[in-house]
Amino acid sequence: MPWRKAWIDRSLHSEPSHDIKQTLNRRAYEVWVSEVMLQQTRVSTVIPYFNNWISKWPTVQDLASADHDEVLAAWKGLGYYSRATRLHEGAKAVVAKPSQSMPDEISELLQLPGIGQYTAGAISSIAFGRAEPVLDGNVARVLSRQLGLYIDVKDKKSSDMLWKVADQLIKEVSEHPEVEFSAIPGQWNQALMELGSTICTPRPKCEECPIQRTCRAYNEGLALSKAQQSATAIPDIEDACTLCDQLDTEDLATIPEEELSDDGLKPAKKRKATAKQTNTLSRYFAIATPSASSNVDSEDEEAVAASKKRKAPAFFKTSKSVNTPATGLLASLWQFPQTTLSASDTTATVRKASAQKYVSSLTAGNIDLSKARYVTSFEPLVHVFTHLRLTMHAYHYRVTDNAEADSLICSGAPARKWVDTSSMDNETLSTGMRKCWELVAKNV
Ligand code: SF4
Repeated sequence: MPWRKAWIDRSLHSEPSHDIKQTLNRRAYEVWVSEVMLQQTRVSTVIPYFNNWISKWPTVQDLASADHDEVLAAWKGLGYYSRATRLHEGAKAVVAKPSQSMPDEISELLQLPGIGQYTAGAISSIAFGRAEPVLDGNVARVLSRQLGLYIDVKDKKSSDMLWKVADQLIKEVSEHPEVEFSAIPGQWNQALMELGSTICTPRPKCEECPIQRTCRAYNEGLALSKAQQSATAIPDIEDACTLCDQLDTEDLATIPEEELSDDGLKPAKKRKATAKQTNTLSRYFAIATPSASSNVDSEDEEAVAASKKRKAPAFFKTSKSVNTPATGLLASLWQFPQTTLSASDTTATVRKASAQKYVSSLTAGNIDLSKARYVTSFEPLVHVFTHLRLTMHAYHYRVTDNAEADSLICSGAPARKWVDTSSMDNETLSTGMRKCWELVAKNV
């Protein structure tokens, strides 16, 4: 992984020079970019994006001065474009500081747009060597199993408790506060993340686990298994226990790589939870259910939760021309004018009439689109998002009023523009819009 690098020990430089500050700044920026890209996205997908990004904008200053459309274009295919926007805004916020450099303290990192507790912990520990914890789905799974806690890690009280545990552990192993900076915090956090993503997976490979000896869940499982093999009937430890909450396996699982969509988003179908059944150790180790447990900061968790509630994305409600949705899953991407059909628009004739009515209601710059000429319609396109299935009916219209073609101006909200056919490949469109364009492009 290109973002994994040796820790830079600033104490080897008696006088912190400009060079070492620059090197640390750059390192922190690389960790930041990699952690944001890795949210909801597999490592193998991220590697080429990370390399391309760093070669385009090797420093936070370079990113801050980049054109936003270029930033979105470099993100094309990674999904959740708001992450790119927040990275860009964060870079601008860094260069606006008097020091113009990445902060190493959690409290300052949290002031930057798009940086939550997880990303702040990763930057502070991995790049700067501070004893600060991280807690993502993988780390939460390892810790809760090590401690034998059968809890819902998404529950606020549970996650607060796991953050405290992670904090105590990292401070202990890093000899904090006696040692202020060292390689250990970064190594420790990365080791926990790696263990959770490779060995202590929803179906754990306990026989390969280097920390099996201290694992409460493993040892309880072992004891249970031995007991079941003996003739003596004993009650299930979890049925007998009156202290622990029941474990919801759904919340501890990660998304298997093969179930991620090519947008790097989570799978459209979520397997049904069997949460209401009693969670026993055997169930704990047997069920792998997909869920959000990647390294997602709270900001992204909110976005995911919000998108789950959404019946239809807001940007399909109305639009005036080729415009950009300002918020949501596809924030800042260009889209064609579009409207939502009603449930009764079930026949091709009704849909075509609805399209005609919609186009007639549009104005764009000096062009009166009510005179736009219908050219053709296409087979319905189905695009599957994380949590919904979208059927698009695309229509091709031609604007006939070419006399004013030289003075086409699209002003007012939402942001709109006319684009040359030959330039469409350079525009940042969602996968669904790109499919629509491919249909039209065959026709022009
Ligand atoms: S022994 Fe098994 S359950 Fe425990 S931490 Fe290791 S892989 Fe996870």
